[in-house]
Amino acid sequence: MLLPILSPQNNTIVSLLQRCRTLEHLKQTHAHLTTTQPSSIARILSFFAFSHLSYANHVFSLIPNPTVFMYNTLIRAHSTSSPPHIAFSLYIQMLRNRTFPNKFTFTFLIKACSLSLSSKLLSDLHSHVVKWGFAYDAFLQSGFVQLYANCGLIDNARQVFDQIVERDVVSWTALLSGYAKCGMIKTAREVFDGMPEKNSVSWAAMIAGYAQSGSYEKAIEMFNEMQFANLHPTQATLVCILSACAQVGALDQGQWVHAYIKRNKVPRTLSIDTALINMYARCGCIENSVQVFNQMPQRDTHAWTSMICGMAIHGLGHEAINTFEDMLSSGAKPDGVTFVGVLTACSHACLVDMGRHYFHIMGEIYQIASGAEHYGCMVDMYGRCGLLDEAWELVMAMRMRPDAIVLKALLSACYNHGHVGMAEWAAKRLIEVDPCHGASYVMLSNVYSGGERWGDAEGVRSMMREKGIAKVPGCSLIEVRGVLHRFVVGEKEHPLMREINLMLVEMGRRLRLAGYVPAVKQVLFDIDEEERENILGRHSEKLAIAFGLLSIEAPAPIRVLKNLRVCLDCHVATKLISKVFEREIVVRDNLRFHRFVGGSCSCMDYW
Ligand code: ZN
Ligand code: ZN
Repeated sequence: MLLPILSPQNNTIVSLLQRCRTLEHLKQTHAHLTTTQPSSIARILSFFAFSHLSYANHVFSLIPNPTVFMYNTLIRAHSTSSPPHIAFSLYIQMLRNRTFPNKFTFTFLIKACSLSLSSKLLSDLHSHVVKWGFAYDAFLQSGFVQLYANCGLIDNARQVFDQIVERDVVSWTALLSGYAKCGMIKTAREVFDGMPEKNSVSWAAMIAGYAQSGSYEKAIEMFNEMQFANLHPTQATLVCILSACAQVGALDQGQWVHAYIKRNKVPRTLSIDTALINMYARCGCIENSVQVFNQMPQRDTHAWTSMICGMAIHGLGHEAINTFEDMLSSGAKPDGVTFVGVLTACSHACLVDMGRHYFHIMGEIYQIASGAEHYGCMVDMYGRCGLLDEAWELVMAMRMRPDAIVLKALLSACYNHGHVGMAEWAAKRLIEVDPCHGASYVMLSNVYSGGERWGDAEGVRSMMREKGIAKVPGCSLIEVRGVLHRFVVGEKEHPLMREINLMLVEMGRRLRLAGYVPAVKQVLFDIDEEERENILGRHSEKLAIAFGLLSIEAPAPIRVLKNLRVCLDCHVATKLISKVFEREIVVRDNLRFHRFVGGSCSCMDYW
């Protein structure tokens, strides 16, 4: 092989190496260079370190006295991908060879350490940094703030941060996201507010912190403020906001984000599209989900699963199953969540044989162990299709002890079919499994009240009082022109309360004309009939619907999100409202969607 005459310039060496097509060719060029230009070895090493790491290791092993630059090159190459101990053993080898580390050595070691998140390794590294005199290097300090925070050692993070003389946006953001990750959202916010300068990473950390701690409305609020600050959200922030919108049913806001993505030509990644599918499905706009899904150039398990689960919670059983079959033919692999969607779909469409079939192949063909959610779906399916005995047998045949999900499904099934005996069993187990969860007591008490066993109902109520268990207050959200309004049961604080009260009276009048009789049986408190009716009339979803009728123009549907299961009375009332007011009403409760149109509901009165 003929080699060109070499100039000693480094870039020529690199371009010469770059021109090699095979590793063999590279090795030959390398051999040639070592004989003709011994001084080029550092360049050669850094070339191989980022293209052929194992060959770089070999090149390095032949160097008799590597310089700190050479050590750093190899440590850096190992810091991003290899197990962290390789970078650290190079560091130890370096010290043994009496080569002194510099600031960059530690920068790369911090990076290696972030892959392992071992607090022992971290504190060892920190003491070395101090020993070599870099304790006050702001860049390294920022790195340690981040590392300590990621390891959950927030106090150490704070200590390092407090020692930084010149704090920049990176160190501030590291501290802020540390607090957010440890769930100390208030402190994170204090740090955020105290920052002299913020960039889009700082905003992203704060928004993610709110979303992770379940403060979705706060996350959305921050996102809007970020727009005013004229900063561009990162892709991760957009995904985070879309899922916050999905959680609280903020459709207008979600649509705004979708428009933003289109307007700013944000690259359509799998995670962005999947977040859009989820957001539309969970905000009650399944058509838009399908549209996004159909336009995706490629789909992974998450994307398929989101589509299937979205269709399932909307009661589109057949569509969900067809999508699942398409998924299988596309070669994508279903996971446990996919099967939750498929089984939910079978339940909604009462496809009992198919449900059994999918439940069976999940374990047999896809080797996915059936979890409580899958059993819950099956029990729900049997219950919905009136096969109470099958539901019972399945629960009895479970290999694990039935947990809250399964018991709730069984309880609902018994409750809907008025089987007091089985319901009593399920509710008592549910209270054993989850003694602090108010809903189990409420359901048991409701079962007794439904069966007119007032004494037993009273017994459950006094048990609740003795144990100091509070009923979770009902709460509904409704979005009007991009603003979320929150109503709790018996709400009196809303600025438009007077108008809402008038609307409630009007609703009551028109419903009674249409033959509505309040379903008071379920109300469990020690109060007389009239007051029971009053409490039912002020359930949070009724307030939200009244507000929706006042402030959302027809024919746009009224969308409400409720934190608890919709009660029987609200269900009956909402069906009638959709008829007498000629409005489509979509209510998402903690389990599924109810789409009320013309006096009937998409759940077919089973939920
Ligand atoms: Zn209600
Ligand atoms: Zn319904």
